[in-house]
Amino acid sequence: MLSGKQLFLRFLGQTSPAPLMVEIDRAEGVFMYGPHGEKYLDLISGVSVSNVGHNHPQVTEAVRRQAESYTHLMVYGELILGPQVSYARKLASVLPHGLDNCYFVNSGSEAVEGAMKLAKRFTGRTKIISFRNSYHGSTHGAISLQGSEIYRNAFRPLLPDTFQIGFNDENALDIIDSRTACVIAEPIQGEAGIVLPAEGFLDKLRKRCSETGALLVFDEVQTGFGRTGYMFASQRYNVTPDIIILAKALGGGMPLGAFVSSRDIMQSLSDRPVLGHITTFGGHPVSCAAGEAALQVIVGENLAGAAIHKAGLFRERLSHRLISGIRGEGLLMAIELKSRDHVRYAVANAPRFGLITDFFLFCENAIRVAPPLIISEDEITLACNLLHSLLDDTMKNIEQA
Ligand code: PMP
Repeated sequence: MLSGKQLFLRFLGQTSPAPLMVEIDRAEGVFMYGPHGEKYLDLISGVSVSNVGHNHPQVTEAVRRQAESYTHLMVYGELILGPQVSYARKLASVLPHGLDNCYFVNSGSEAVEGAMKLAKRFTGRTKIISFRNSYHGSTHGAISLQGSEIYRNAFRPLLPDTFQIGFNDENALDIIDSRTACVIAEPIQGEAGIVLPAEGFLDKLRKRCSETGALLVFDEVQTGFGRTGYMFASQRYNVTPDIIILAKALGGGMPLGAFVSSRDIMQSLSDRPVLGHITTFGGHPVSCAAGEAALQVIVGENLAGAAIHKAGLFRERLSHRLISGIRGEGLLMAIELKSRDHVRYAVANAPRFGLITDFFLFCENAIRVAPPLIISEDEITLACNLLHSLLDDTMKNIEQA
């Protein structure tokens, strides 16, 4: 009989030759549990998804209630569905002023596609600018924006008229001109290894976009919903984009994406010709119900504000010879280790120490620490102790090799 691991490798398409390969039976709060009593503390939240933790009772109840009322009824945008309307209205109340018209889709990549199409339609222009080491998703359009030649080259030809410039390179902003439909930026770069914007950089980017009539698009797929200590990183830097892209924590653990703008901008997608973007499952009622329940928890328990204090506890308690630095904002952190080999070993062996962590796509020398925002003080102490044991083991094994 094939084991769970053998069946996983045999019947599921693989994303890499070295998956984490940890079997999970159930999850609750900050913990995941294996079939034989194994317990893992989740340091990555499914990459910024599980901000309210796993199996949160309010989210589970919202899913159950909505599934009992109805699931899919009709393609997005035709019927008036309570969970969509209610969540869009709630989102408008927490998003930066002016971002109050929400187009629901299924994922981050699809929201990126929608935002690019919206910017092209609204401006009548085609040029799109993004940043080196950015990650915006895996569809062809999103890969065209991606700031890594290795991943882009494998799939050429890509979307024409797309250009990448250096994040934090003020001198490069001149490339934004009257032909530019939009500039798409992560206000804090996630897969680059949590790279913060330099002082004033986002202001200058905003100013250049306004001067040239290019739309500014912030991809807050990883940074949204309290992760950085603010509901959205745009608010941390006090820079408001014309379009914001949301996914991951937006669905409270269910699949959901959205691009949000003013109503004036959004209207250009539904006219001349109609159906500028269409989706069957976008804004699935169960996902919207789950997302709204999760947002109520984030707001009600002030998880954004708490993330700043909790990040401080991590920084205080994490101290190890292998750690050369901690980058980040709130509970979106990159722990810098000595080398790529240390990172590879630590990520692969973390489950043996009861931890789940991960590396970054475009940063070889750091591991991720971005736990659910509901993590308690005792759980932070536990996480730091487990990390220290893992790093002791990493040091012993890598330095011997
Ligand atoms: N943008 C950012 C900043 C992301 O981190 C991701 C996913 N890691 C995406 C877009 C794409 O989201 P999805 O995987 O849901 O398509």
